[in-house]
Amino acid sequence: MLKRGALAGMPAGMASWMAIFLWLIAWPAQAAIDVTATGATPLGPHAELFEDATGELELADVLARSETLSWAPSGQQVIDIGFSSSAWWLRFGIENDAPVPVRRMLELASPLPDYVDVYAIDGQGRVVQQWHTGSRRPFMSRPIRHRTFVLPLYLGPNETRELYLRLDSHDGLLPAAPLYLMNDAEFLDRTQRELMGYSLFYGGLLALLIYNLLTFLATRERAFLYSVFYLGAFFLFNFGLRGFAYQFMWPERPHLNGQLLLLSGGLLTVALTLFSVECLGLRRHAPRMARGIVVLTGLIVACVLPALANHFAWVLRALIPLGIAYAALLLGVAAWLGVRRDRLALIYLAAWTSLLSGSGLFLLGESGVMAYEVSQYALESGAALGFLLLAFGLAVRINRLKRDKLAAERETYKLQRSLNRKLEDEVQQRTRELERANRKLEAMVRTDPLTGLLNRRQFESLVNEEIHRRQRDAKPLLFAMMDIDDFKLYNDTYGHQAGDEVLVEVARLLSSHFRRAGDRLFRLGGEEFGILLEADSFEAGRFAMERFRHDLQQLKIPHERSRHGVITGSFGLVCCDDYGQVPNAMALYEQADQAMYQAKEESRNRVVTRSLLLEA
Ligand code: GH3
Ligand code: MG
Ligand code: MG
Repeated sequence: MLKRGALAGMPAGMASWMAIFLWLIAWPAQAAIDVTATGATPLGPHAELFEDATGELELADVLARSETLSWAPSGQQVIDIGFSSSAWWLRFGIENDAPVPVRRMLELASPLPDYVDVYAIDGQGRVVQQWHTGSRRPFMSRPIRHRTFVLPLYLGPNETRELYLRLDSHDGLLPAAPLYLMNDAEFLDRTQRELMGYSLFYGGLLALLIYNLLTFLATRERAFLYSVFYLGAFFLFNFGLRGFAYQFMWPERPHLNGQLLLLSGGLLTVALTLFSVECLGLRRHAPRMARGIVVLTGLIVACVLPALANHFAWVLRALIPLGIAYAALLLGVAAWLGVRRDRLALIYLAAWTSLLSGSGLFLLGESGVMAYEVSQYALESGAALGFLLLAFGLAVRINRLKRDKLAAERETYKLQRSLNRKLEDEVQQRTRELERANRKLEAMVRTDPLTGLLNRRQFESLVNEEIHRRQRDAKPLLFAMMDIDDFKLYNDTYGHQAGDEVLVEVARLLSSHFRRAGDRLFRLGGEEFGILLEADSFEAGRFAMERFRHDLQQLKIPHERSRHGVITGSFGLVCCDDYGQVPNAMALYEQADQAMYQAKEESRNRVVTRSLLLEA
């Protein structure tokens, strides 16, 4: 029923044989399709195709020149033309073998073609139905409100129709055109199944988006915000790509619809870059790769911008290599980090693989390399799995952050404890040092630095205390004073230094003699010493003093200018229980001093005692 313009220039015999041959092999393409067959019939294999390079032919021209035009069988399941600035004509015949009138739906199952003109011609060559629609024409141009193009064909009993379909683009890009013929029930069934699938997909996507947004608000983790961006951008992109946005959101604005599709694609790239850089810590782990990805993202965004001026074909030409490079880089970096045993990177790799293989399968289907039926939902399936994996990755990341935080807290606590312990030790050491210094200072305040004996100030306070105690206990108190004899002469003879050594020596002797718990030794000034005695009796005291005097002489420290030839001392010992006479230290001192003075008078080197006892 179809004549081939391609055979026009051949010799007649050969041409007719060739025509029969071609007619035979192209038979399935040329047979009129029986519309009473059940199931959705794909029309691609039945269609003939003709390229109108000028894009100016009208239906009337095509019909008039049908003999000379080079119609060819499409040979494709899904007609896919791709980049071409021509207009393309498709034709196929259908027939109704039934004795009743029928209605059939012709679906061009893609929301993307720019201009679609369809004509139904009856057996008499009359145009009985025609539509002029497409995604660049208002939504109202569609006879059935649907995201794709659905045209109702009417055929009377035993009628045939020749269908002519003209596809054209505004900028030289013709997307894949899957064509189906089906009855109302099949169309309804198909649409409902599809709608249920998309509803589940978009519902899941939006639920994940809202969940991630709330999680971001709760945790302020930027990765969640970026995931909201990419889920939002993907939703916008896919909603546009599948024709829902045009149908439900801006049916009056075909230009905006086209622009938003590519812009949301650019937005999706930006969001995925932000998410990947943040989530994989690329700035830290692979700064050069991160820079490469950011540069590629910038280029992609720059390429998408001409979409605003409606130059889609250019944009897509540039985007294909950039998109491949971008995807390869992201996959590469995730794989590289994954090899380094980063579990998060592995999850990310799986997510990316799923997302990309979905997109890849979708493109293969769109471009006719793969069966369209198999791959038409690959994009959504890949994306759904990918997004679920990314959500899982986010959970792993949160877990990791929590673990890191806990470890850091534990570390801080440990550090704090060790610091506290150190501080405590230091404080204790300082306290000990301070106590030592204090004791030293106290001792320095209490003692005479040369001899180490108690000093004059201590004499007053200690002796006053002792007087009161003894008075209370009604006990006598023994106190002696000693003065080294002719010490000035000694100094003059042997020098002041030697004099000091004698003082030290005398003090040592005193300390070794008077060692009872109550004995107190004082240096009262110059070469004058005081001894508070813990003696049981006056006699015992006198004996002790006498023994000391003797032992001092026996030290035999040479003193050539002394009448005894050696260092000696004079002693005044007071024994008292009449505290009326000796009420305080000074009074006691005076009494002892007088006794000692007496000893000096009596040729020195002797002990003079004075008793101030009540019974005496
Ligand atoms: P007397 O037998 O009468 O006690 O004669 P004296 O020379 O010991 O008495 P005097 O009180 O006249 O002299 C005390 C001397 O003791 C005067 C001073 O040179 C000496 N002197 C006092 N304090 C110190 C001291 O800390 N070191 C030394 N080396 N000599 C001292
Ligand atoms: Mg003296
Ligand atoms: Mg003296």
